Amino acid sequence: MKVLLIGSGGREHALAWKIAQSPLLTTLYAIPGNPGIAEHATLVPISADDLDEILAFCRGHEIDFVVVGPEAPLVAGLADQLRAEGFAVFGPSAAAAQLEGSKGFTKDLCARYDIPTGAYQRFNNAPKAKAYARAQGAPIVIKADGLAAGKGVTVAMTLDEALAAIDDCFEGAFGEAGAEVVVEAFLDGEEASFFCLCDGKTLLPLATAQDHKRVGDGDTGPNTGGMGACSPAPVMTPDLVDRTMKEIIEPTMRGMAEMGMPFSGVFFAGLMITDKGPELIEYNVRFGDPECQVLMMRLKSDLLELLHATATGRLHEVSVQWRDETALTVVLASKGYPGAFEKNTAIRALPDATDKAKVFHAGTALKDHQLVATGGRVLNATALGSSVAEAQAAAYRLVDTVEWDNGFCRRDIGWRAIGRD
Ligand code: AMP
Repeated sequence: MKVLLIGSGGREHALAWKIAQSPLLTTLYAIPGNPGIAEHATLVPISADDLDEILAFCRGHEIDFVVVGPEAPLVAGLADQLRAEGFAVFGPSAAAAQLEGSKGFTKDLCARYDIPTGAYQRFNNAPKAKAYARAQGAPIVIKADGLAAGKGVTVAMTLDEALAAIDDCFEGAFGEAGAEVVVEAFLDGEEASFFCLCDGKTLLPLATAQDHKRVGDGDTGPNTGGMGACSPAPVMTPDLVDRTMKEIIEPTMRGMAEMGMPFSGVFFAGLMITDKGPELIEYNVRFGDPECQVLMMRLKSDLLELLHATATGRLHEVSVQWRDETALTVVLASKGYPGAFEKNTAIRALPDATDKAKVFHAGTALKDHQLVATGGRVLNATALGSSVAEAQAAAYRLVDTVEWDNGFCRRDIGWRAIGRD
């Protein structure tokens, strides 16, 4: 199979690494990829958001299968355009990608299908949103409706914070994404992510993971794209997995099909485990980053076979096997992230990979043969262990052999999971 992978982050490096192990693969291309992905794929210098150029590349290179990593091209309709030209694609249609692309869409779906989630209202102007927030009181959560690169959510612990967040949205802080706002009840509990494949009809649950959104140890400081993850998430007991499937995942997929937009691809539910049980925070219509890195470390099955079966409606023919171990990844970020940070700082040395420990590239580039950090989140030190504590120790051993003066990381990834393990 000639495969094209779209994306350039740590998620796509992990996908490329795993796809490259498949006996079904003949050639792997990546648009645009990164220096880590270049170990497994031929990089093509086209932007992941340039739909026309991507289509032209697929036609010109007789691509058999396209795997889309990030959400933005999906929400923009890349999968629809490729399918219209006869290409097999892993990733949902633009209509189905609304599960991530519009928080209001997902909340309405929850209301219609009785899926447990925080009470909410949608607003298209500040005065009404503020009146509702005042009536509900703090803590309360303010969300820009559309895609805002993970920055459109404010968990407001005071009413003043909530009112300021509403103003930010309607004053354009998130562009078009903030033209509509969801005001939502604050949910208290422990978070977990639940990943599934769906081919429009058949659902295949994958695994659980736990992300660490805050920049600082002990879950302090501002939200980020994710500072580390572990899988499985011990908070997700078999009973909670069962309830999540029955109360959240199955009705969602049934609802999407009934509404004429069957979901095909991978998605994950961001869950809050409250004292009532699992409640939905949000859906994402792609692998999480950095959760994908830990899932790929644990996956024993042929990823390419799984993704292709999903894209071609044959999910009922395949099964998925996982290693019993825990995988844990630590994100190394540029000092200053999630605020301003210096670019193009030198990464002088990275540890060699083994089959149980690997550093994935997330925001790197090669400049004059020197590996440099170009992004906020730059490297993902990922390792397996027979317990969360062992996986954590192995991941930090990797971290400590990275030679990069401008990097920092959290030192406590996995702390909740270790507490429960
Ligand atoms: P989202 O972009 O929807 O994942 O939100 C980002 C983060 O905000 C989540 O991972 C949660 O930590 C937090 N969050 C979102 N919605 C809620 C909620 N209703 N209650 C508490 N925390 C929330």
